[in-house]
Amino acid sequence: MQIQGEMIIGRRAVRGSAGLTHAVAPARTGNATLEPGFGRATREDLDAACTLAEAAFDSYRAVPLEARARFLETIADRILDIGPVLIERAGLESGLPAARLEGERMRTVNQLRLFAKVVRDGHFLAATLDSALPERSPPRPDLRMRKVPLGPVAVFGASNFPLAFSVAGGDTASSLAAGCPVVVKAHNAHLGTSELVAKAVQRAAIECDMPEGVFSMLIGEGNVIGTDLVAHPAIKAVGFTGSRQGGLALMRIAAARAEPIPVYAEMSSVNPFFLLPQALAGAAATLARGFVDSLTLGVGQFCTNPGLVVGLEGDQFDAFSAAAAEALQAKTAATMLTPGIHRAYADAVERRTGIAGVQLLARGSAAAGDVGCAALPALYACDAATFLATPQLEEEIFGPAAVLVRCRDEAELLAVARHVEGQLTATVHAAAADGALAAALLPILERKAGRILFNGFPTGVEVSHAMVHGGPFPATSDSRTTSVGATAIERFLRPVCYQDLPAGLLPEALRDDNPLGLARVVDGVLRTAS
Ligand code: NAP
Repeated sequence: MQIQGEMIIGRRAVRGSAGLTHAVAPARTGNATLEPGFGRATREDLDAACTLAEAAFDSYRAVPLEARARFLETIADRILDIGPVLIERAGLESGLPAARLEGERMRTVNQLRLFAKVVRDGHFLAATLDSALPERSPPRPDLRMRKVPLGPVAVFGASNFPLAFSVAGGDTASSLAAGCPVVVKAHNAHLGTSELVAKAVQRAAIECDMPEGVFSMLIGEGNVIGTDLVAHPAIKAVGFTGSRQGGLALMRIAAARAEPIPVYAEMSSVNPFFLLPQALAGAAATLARGFVDSLTLGVGQFCTNPGLVVGLEGDQFDAFSAAAAEALQAKTAATMLTPGIHRAYADAVERRTGIAGVQLLARGSAAAGDVGCAALPALYACDAATFLATPQLEEEIFGPAAVLVRCRDEAELLAVARHVEGQLTATVHAAAADGALAAALLPILERKAGRILFNGFPTGVEVSHAMVHGGPFPATSDSRTTSVGATAIERFLRPVCYQDLPAGLLPEALRDDNPLGLARVVDGVLRTAS
């Protein structure tokens, strides 16, 4: 499968004429530019994609649930059909190893299949019926509610998951599942990968006879396309994973529109990792090795990377720190996703090294040979007073760097927990004898994080029904939702209530005879299909 340097606008493959952008192979030193160049979208291209998406919306949302589910499954099949070239190109563009990318491809495919099940099942419609009570004073009308899709969604591909959070990743899968057409802004870190996947989605759309405009993918740089996409009147919601700065910029653009729209941005999280004293007793070295493996997994480029460790000062925490330093020194530098991300990591590590009261505990080992964009892991330590007084220590360093915070006592540990910003995850390592402290910590963490883990490691996010990959700001722009898992679909739906609608006009989900066989809430009671 030849990569042409093209984007997708409905049923057309288009080579943009607003200049060329090249993908880069970050692992290569010297001339790392990859061919071909990708044509950037003009404003006309962007308008064509958005106009087609708007035109497709009503017919796409009317597509029967079974056909919508089959469309999602066909996308999954066509992605698999791309074969090894997808893994090769994604590896070249991201520096990620083939085994990781193969796993990510299966995650992407399974995510699409999970949303196909969600669509077939129909619970997401939240069908709810309140019978008329004409005899009541005042009388109650017949009220029926279901969820409908918001409209075309702008999806920003994320640099750190070239498959699972990109062109056909979670935001796209959940938007399409909800009944929303999608316009993707491809991430420049993996343009060839994006073209391959976008063409697979396009093939699936044609094969399943979906309306043209159900999916498009645009290429641009310097924020131009992203800004215009979020501002375009046809777009009704945004899905984004990336920097805090980028997410905030998109929120501002969305809020300044004549019709403001929701932005679901996943931005920044240091994922605090609390080590309670009895959990550390006798297990400090094992926990330290597990922690360092989690910290350096994927060169620390996971949104759930544990960048902040908090424990009580004393022998056990010292043993943990020493073992973590030793394990980290044994980790070699590895290629980051892009030269820009590598530069940002190196600068952030240097800034942290200069902070008063912060000790550099360890760095990783240099890479053997000539490796491009190689990030050396870094481990810092400080006391809680320094941490509480230094806002910079709370900032996410995107990469394999963490700070260990020593607390004088339990009260200080709880103060650190109360102090941190919103997070995607918070982890507690606790033994039975830590019960009282764990119980005091839990309600604090519920206010801070979208997912609370006990005795585990936060990297690795299951795509399932109960998963929450979200959290209070700045982890995300809207703590009420998740960007991973079945309930991610909720972001792109809104409720509509139908009052006294004639039977002939009722949507199928709300008809008395329940032709879709949905579980529905009828007069406040959940009724299964039977
Ligand atoms: P980014 O700079 O936020 O860019 C992501 C996408 O958003 C790009 O397509 C970019 O378009 C667009 N964009 C960013 N700012 C914009 C603006 N002001 N207006 C319109 N569009 C905008 O993220 P990145 O390139 O992936 O990485 C940069 C940093 O983001 C990393 O160093 C890391 O700190 C953070 N990051 C965090 C996570 C996480 O999960 N927490 C994941 C990935 C990255 P253009 O190409 O046109 O600029």
